[in-house]
Amino acid sequence: MSLWLSGIGISRGIGIGRVQRLHGGDLEIPEYAVPAERVAAEVARFEAAREQAKAQLRQVRAQVGALPGSGGVQGEIAAFIDTHLLMLDDRTLSQAVVALIRKDGLNAEAALRRQRDVLAGAFEQMEDPYLRARRDDVHQVCARVLRLLLQQDQSAAAAPSGAAAPRTAGAHATALPPVIVADDVTPADIILLAQQGVAGFITEYGGPLSHTAILTRSLGIPAIAGLHNARRLLREGETVIVDGELGHALADPDARAAAFFQAKRERLQADRARLARLRDQPAVSRDGVAIKLLANIELPEDAAAAAALGAEGVGLYRTEFLYMNRKTLPDEEEQYRAYARVAASAKGPITIRTLDLGADKQVDSGARAGPMPNNPALGLRAIRLCLKEPELFRTQVRALLRASALGRVQIMLPMISSVQEFRQAQQLIDQARAQLLAEGYPVADEVPVGAMIEVPAAALAAPWLAQHARFFSIGTNDLIQYTLAIDRVDEEVNYLYDPLHPAVLRLIRMTIEAGERAGVPVAMCGEMAGDPRYTRLLLGLGLTEFSMHPNSLLEVKRIIIESDVGALRRQAQRLLAANSATELHELIAQFARAA
Ligand code: PEP
Ligand code: MG
Repeated sequence: MSLWLSGIGISRGIGIGRVQRLHGGDLEIPEYAVPAERVAAEVARFEAAREQAKAQLRQVRAQVGALPGSGGVQGEIAAFIDTHLLMLDDRTLSQAVVALIRKDGLNAEAALRRQRDVLAGAFEQMEDPYLRARRDDVHQVCARVLRLLLQQDQSAAAAPSGAAAPRTAGAHATALPPVIVADDVTPADIILLAQQGVAGFITEYGGPLSHTAILTRSLGIPAIAGLHNARRLLREGETVIVDGELGHALADPDARAAAFFQAKRERLQADRARLARLRDQPAVSRDGVAIKLLANIELPEDAAAAAALGAEGVGLYRTEFLYMNRKTLPDEEEQYRAYARVAASAKGPITIRTLDLGADKQVDSGARAGPMPNNPALGLRAIRLCLKEPELFRTQVRALLRASALGRVQIMLPMISSVQEFRQAQQLIDQARAQLLAEGYPVADEVPVGAMIEVPAAALAAPWLAQHARFFSIGTNDLIQYTLAIDRVDEEVNYLYDPLHPAVLRLIRMTIEAGERAGVPVAMCGEMAGDPRYTRLLLGLGLTEFSMHPNSLLEVKRIIIESDVGALRRQAQRLLAANSATELHELIAQFARAA
């Protein structure tokens, strides 16, 4: 009998295969006290497991070149493994565990579990969905070391469990490739399994921003995450269909369902092939309007992967990641190395945002003194914090200016709310430049400084700001939060978060118009820019630079290529002039239908 299950679709496509459950599951972690004379040996046991985990990852990394897909995909995969290798070397993991073993006399497994929960908890708190999803990496990295400590052989990770009897007769199902059903799958395991040829992945944990998700998408393997109890409900060897778009799994399908999904698979494969062909095609609309497509990145290594997916440059590099999960602030040299890496690896302009700490992005390195304010989103955040603590700002700006000698670096100031604030920051940047030149450092002649438009006051004051800023970038995530007075991290008011609110649309248009008048380029780097549902509307509002997560680039490009921008702009004018809510909603709906 057929069985429908529902999870979160994380990698589009239809996979038809037989269930192959992975060993693993939640590890049973013992906790016991280690006597003082055994502490040194326990630390050595932990270190040996950590080294072995690194050796395993390096071995998998060496096989990346043999994977299917373009050099870009392979680079992305190598970057995932490097992230796990870096985590294994990170002091917040290794030293903290050693300290727990030494100070609290804990056994290595329990110490690692404790530190894993601390780190995963810190990522969990982050408002930025990409960074929040890194908690899955923490779990995966720690599970690798834990299995080694518990002496469970990970090379058997891809072996089937073979416990339950198949729901269907095996003859047909065994001819199919496997669909992997697991609690979670690490990037390294995905690579090994992809080489063996799998039809899909179903995991009990994870979400659309996990590395598992990003990797399965890169490899084009259909996948579903968050399907609770999948390992219990799906039987070894039975036929299962994975719909990675809708997040549905259908076990033991009848002939009609199988034919339906077969047809859907063929349709999606044709779509995917068409999208891949767009990679090197310019993003020019039907009526000849050229649009710039840029990438949002969080880590220096993301830049090369973004370029491989066709991004023309970096529209937003969030530098907060450098400051998080550490006790000390990164110094100028460390920052310079990170920015230099991005500047050297991306081909177009590299827009690096100065520190946006405070509110949802807290750090524990003492960058912010004093008690937590009652309303942090309206408090000492981003550029306000940097102007209050000029040393913090100067260190970052010096590193940015030094990196400008290696690529087309632009400096972007977050949360600007007035011309004075912008000018004050610009002055500090000019001083840092003069100092660096006096010290003999090379600095590019042109390092444009721009403002993020994410506070309503900045959008309203855009004509004046445009006299000072060299570019604008609209941060809709915050612009929507501040315009509609809804805390973006408060789930209670999430339902009010509406990118299509007429007030938001007007502020976007005002910003673009101010830029057009002053000859200041206007980009958008909030989530709205990468959401294909809004592409036509934004083209209609006059947006010509979109910065987004690289995975959305080709879909957005397809819409741009199929659009008539002139017609969309006329339609948007009617929308902005609408004088009834009904008319407005009808006009907004038309954008979703227009081509
Ligand atoms: C924004 O606010 O839209 C933005 C891009 O910045 P962040 O999400 O990092 O606040
Ligand atoms: Mg913001």
